[in-house]
Amino acid sequence: MFTEIFSPVQKIAFTPFNHLSVKRDDLIDPYISGNKWRKLKYILAKARAENKTQLVTFGGAYSNHLVATAAAAARSGLKATAFVRGEMVKNEMLLLCSLFGMELIFTDRESYRNKHQLFENHFANNAEAYFIDEGGASAEATFGCAEIIGELTETYDHIFCAAGTGTTATGLLKGIQQQQLPAKLHVVPVLKGGGFIAEEIARYTTINKQLALHLDYHFGGYAKTTPELIHFIKTFTGQTGLLLDPVYTAKMFYAICDLEKKGQIHRNDRILAIHTGGLMGLFGMQDKF
Ligand SMILES: *Cc1c(COP(=O)(O)O)cnc(C)c1O
Repeated sequence: MFTEIFSPVQKIAFTPFNHLSVKRDDLIDPYISGNKWRKLKYILAKARAENKTQLVTFGGAYSNHLVATAAAAARSGLKATAFVRGEMVKNEMLLLCSLFGMELIFTDRESYRNKHQLFENHFANNAEAYFIDEGGASAEATFGCAEIIGELTETYDHIFCAAGTGTTATGLLKGIQQQQLPAKLHVVPVLKGGGFIAEEIARYTTINKQLALHLDYHFGGYAKTTPELIHFIKTFTGQTGLLLDPVYTAKMFYAICDLEKKGQIHRNDRILAIHTGGLMGLFGMQDKF
């Protein structure tokens, strides 16, 4: 399942840009979406190499990572368990997790903080259980994300991605450095106080001038939106035919437009946006539209 993928680079017509392209990782798979596919590729390879049969991971009730892990486990003949942050709820994402056979353990916020302790408490005697951190954050995940850069056949002035843990951004920067590309990597954290992402990236690779972190596009914080962001999504999707999710990719595309208005990038620059998928995030936000 981690062999053939369809993720073309498509040029889109969005005013005022003349060379705006999108790497369509959102087309890789509906459930193992975008960067979650990239991240799980080498995580699952490692789990398999260590003869693990059960994936154990962590996430909120609307986590793309949980759905992706559930689907990937089912297709690989592995069992999966997730510790879900907060009280027991039902929603579209968790329904998919359950259908893929994932066991869900709802966990109060206090206990959820210590993930290694939770793993110990439940799986200390299970040598076949494999710990996957929240969002899939790991060195293996960065290897998979670096491959996005290896697939490019053109060069760009600017490459943009949205960031949660910063693992995808780390992989992209590593890829850019390995291929010695001139492109600048623009990272748009979707959480408030996203400065920690620089430290996350520095754990795996050397930060250089090619990295730009844009900390002012969180719109109030993780999974927070404003009427302005929702309006932007409607305009963008109406003009381009590309769907965005309010949690990640909308904030990235908004940043691209705003940085052009501020003169930090130019409408004639060659720009590549990584569409990291996550469109099921729309389901939890119906009332915002
Ligand atoms: C999980 C996710 C991200 C964040 O990726 P990180 O590697 O955690 O920074 C970005 N975009 C989408 C659509 C996601 O689902």
